[in-house]
Amino acid sequence: MTTTTSSHTIATLPALPELQQAYAELQAKGLRLDLTRGKPSAEQLDLAEPMLALPGIGVHADDSGTDARNYGGLDGGLAIRRIFAELLDVPVEQLLAGGNASLTLMHDVVSFAELFGFPESPRPWAREEKVRWICPVPGYDRHFTVCEAFGIEMVPVPMTPDGPDAAAVAALVATDPTIKGMWVVPTYSNPDGAVLTDDVARALVSMPAAAPDFRILWDNAYAVHHLTDDEVTSPNAIALAAEAGHPDRVILFASTSKITFAGSGVAFLGSSPANVAWYKKHLSAASIGPDKLNHLRHAMFFGSADGVREHMRKHRAILAPKFEAVVEILAERLGGYGVASWTEPKGGYFVSLDVAPGTASRVVQLAKEAGIALTPAGATYPYGRDPENKNVRLAPSMPPLDEVRTAMDGVATCVLLAAAETITS
Ligand code: PLP
Repeated sequence: MTTTTSSHTIATLPALPELQQAYAELQAKGLRLDLTRGKPSAEQLDLAEPMLALPGIGVHADDSGTDARNYGGLDGGLAIRRIFAELLDVPVEQLLAGGNASLTLMHDVVSFAELFGFPESPRPWAREEKVRWICPVPGYDRHFTVCEAFGIEMVPVPMTPDGPDAAAVAALVATDPTIKGMWVVPTYSNPDGAVLTDDVARALVSMPAAAPDFRILWDNAYAVHHLTDDEVTSPNAIALAAEAGHPDRVILFASTSKITFAGSGVAFLGSSPANVAWYKKHLSAASIGPDKLNHLRHAMFFGSADGVREHMRKHRAILAPKFEAVVEILAERLGGYGVASWTEPKGGYFVSLDVAPGTASRVVQLAKEAGIALTPAGATYPYGRDPENKNVRLAPSMPPLDEVRTAMDGVATCVLLAAAETITS
């Protein structure tokens, strides 16, 4: 679970001129640092470098005997599906391996629903007057972009440390047939690092839905991306949904983007047999089969699910010090002023920083003018609108540790200055 450090007002902010002076000194350093996106660093990418020599000349038969060089095999390579079936807790026959981006699979699912509908849809979603979608906030900006691309109206619902506010979701979904789906990031959510509890999962998969074709796009992007010894697992939503009598409610996604290569990984889709058949039917019009050589090289590189777990511990060794630095500097510089709170994630790729209400965009602007690029304020909310203008997403994975430290120290100065400006204005 994520712990949020809430700072209580026990100290007075430094005076505005003092902070302006500190900011001028920061600007004078001429920094060029970037904490915008959750990309793996070159050092992390290097961990998977040996994969580039795989499968090797003359090696192209998957476990199933299929020639990975040839057309076919819409389900994806059996060996890599077996490994991820274990990690994601999905029966292998209900798990497909596709191209490199799980985001594309999510976009596919929504676009197939828009064009054709699900088997139980009264009509394709594009022919509905309105389609609405629940977006837990703060959330992943690219999820919101998928909704926007299809003109789906986004309905924000607050995140809690245990996942989306299930009671708020249930109340909306029970009465509004235009709500066709929701996003869930069950493990180390983007950006606040929450891990969905069993209770929340059960509530979401069992709640009555006014729309007969309501779906949860269960994006388990950070399933194995631990930063501590506490290697949590999120609930098995597909099985829980089946038990609750809604076997087709959950469609799970994952990928190796932040395990091997962000640009050349393998993406997975897992769901009920009916949803998998539906997806494959529509996919078969677009593809004769995925890149099975990439599947094979991944399977050979990992060897087993334990091989993936072992590999992720190497990522952790690189990432954990960066996250520790972020949290340490925030506590040192901002603790005690009551102008900020932040998450201390146990996994994933982000720290979510809440600054004084009304100042997030100013913090991002100040940081930019001091050479520190941050994710735009509002990005973690649908339509880029953070109603309180207070959330800033920090992504410390990419820069080297010393740059993370320098950048965070600068961010802290910007947070204090922006807060002091509002108090004195
Ligand atoms: N889902 C979440 C929650 C993410 O944070 C990201 C990347 O930051 C992705 C999906 C992207 O996944 P992929 O690279 O498989 O498209």
